[in-house]
Amino acid sequence: MQSRKQGPILGQMMERPLLLSSLLRHAERYHADTEIVSRTLEGGLHRYGYAAAASRARRLAKALERLGLQRGERAATLAWNGYRHFELYYAISGGGAVLHTVNPRLFPEQIAWIINDAEDQLLFFDLSFAKLIEQLAPRCTTVRHWVALCDAAHRPDIAVPGLLCYEDLLAAEHDDYEWPEFDERCASALCYTSGTTGNPKGVLYSHRSMLLHGYASCLPDVFGFSARDCILPVVPMFHVNAWTIPYAAPMVGAKLVLPGAALDGPSLCALFEDEGVTFTGGVPTVWQGVLQQLRQTGRRPRTLRRGVIGGSAAPPALVETLARDYGIELDHAWGMTEISPLGTYNKPKAKHAALDAAARRALAAKQGRPPYGVEMKIVDGEGRTLPNDGVAVGELLVRGPWVVGQYFNTDAPTLRDGWFPTGDVGSIDADGYLCITDRAKDVIKSGGEWIGSIELENLACAHPAVAQAAVIGVAHRKWDERPLLIVVPKAGERPTREELLGWYQGKIAKWWTPDDVVFVEQLPLTATGKISKLQLREQFREHRLPDGESG
Ligand code: ADP
Repeated sequence: MQSRKQGPILGQMMERPLLLSSLLRHAERYHADTEIVSRTLEGGLHRYGYAAAASRARRLAKALERLGLQRGERAATLAWNGYRHFELYYAISGGGAVLHTVNPRLFPEQIAWIINDAEDQLLFFDLSFAKLIEQLAPRCTTVRHWVALCDAAHRPDIAVPGLLCYEDLLAAEHDDYEWPEFDERCASALCYTSGTTGNPKGVLYSHRSMLLHGYASCLPDVFGFSARDCILPVVPMFHVNAWTIPYAAPMVGAKLVLPGAALDGPSLCALFEDEGVTFTGGVPTVWQGVLQQLRQTGRRPRTLRRGVIGGSAAPPALVETLARDYGIELDHAWGMTEISPLGTYNKPKAKHAALDAAARRALAAKQGRPPYGVEMKIVDGEGRTLPNDGVAVGELLVRGPWVVGQYFNTDAPTLRDGWFPTGDVGSIDADGYLCITDRAKDVIKSGGEWIGSIELENLACAHPAVAQAAVIGVAHRKWDERPLLIVVPKAGERPTREELLGWYQGKIAKWWTPDDVVFVEQLPLTATGKISKLQLREQFREHRLPDGESG
């Protein structure tokens, strides 16, 4: 008797590796004249189509080979969002080396530490960082060449050995280069977390992880990008892959607008209008700048109707004002460097159409639900999984093909039982919507209970006289910590302490009400443009609470 064949049987489809170079090849072939527009540091706008961008990226890939950059070696960038940075994204990764995007807003010591940890061989920098490069060069011994992102006429006058000009490198090459094929699991890019505590940690993405993440980010319930979009990433290309936009735009053939170093409200709004931007994304402080500019001009943008807000909790008052007064619908998203960054995205489900306006606003204030590819759970202090009932609050753990498995250059375990502990605290409801109450290290611990700073901040921001607000815990003899509200009033407004504390009445449990309010002109920001709780805690360490029990 003939025995039946045992065991699994392999599929018989092509095994084409998921490589990032294939994105640019696609855009070159099928969206050749779709534009990439960049505000340059030399002044003015630069524009070309995907075909020209791809041709230059291939010339750059040849130049990298000529400079001796080997597969797997790291090449760093210290650059704003611009077309040369876009070319570097593809030439470095596409050729098999690793693109290391460095955040120039970090302290020079941290930057040097990161470059040495990554053992970067080449470093490409925008002209605005020339002085910084002079400081870094003697400390970064692995870097063989420092390449200024300009032509010979703009070459910076700095004393750096091995200084080269980007345009000279390209001028010496022809574009007859074939993108190599290799294992899709090879590393494509490296990005360090900002390391608010301890040294920054490196996250090493792969071609496969970035490509899958790119697909997910284009889904209709995420960014929903198409070839009819014109996308302006305000989020920098040195901050978690600019939330994947440099990969997602060529994937769908969308026009890309890169704002360079001018991230203020007036400069951004000018680009929105002149280039017909349909989608943009940034952290809440960026959107606050945009709102201020819109208020000044009093006009609705011509084409901008959608955007994403994330990186820190989106104040609902800001989101509502932009929708009501200026017709811009912002989606709330949550993510982190370790998740490439897409973790959750907030779009309603069909059943939510029946909700009244208040319930819909409450839902939209949450961080959203995971797209296919991300799994998440919350656990208590003993690691026990808590229910997804929208009430239980615990530490958030995630896993998926674009979630970090192991930090770069360290043997210390990154995962807990196969899950990545995010350090964020929140609840998940039955529909999968995540509500972050705080970062574990920002939670205010009062009398053995937790007070979430995000809700207190969101409420304060809804007060008509408040422009920005932050809540931190200050030490208290009896309760351990009590909340302190720090407020930047709107221009021309002078809210009082009593008025703001009274505002909380009936909106939260009484014991959550902050013990005191201080008024400041501005709030300190982190290197990624978020409000720095760490700096605020240092600044107000000695703050005396009215009950005299501080410290
Ligand atoms: P960093 O800000 O430290 O440079 P990340 O951008 O990776 O690095 O920050 C990720 C963290 O930002 C998350 O762990 C979370 O605490 C916070 N975060 C991101 N998006 C949101 C959001 N929508 N709401 C609340 N917190 C957020």
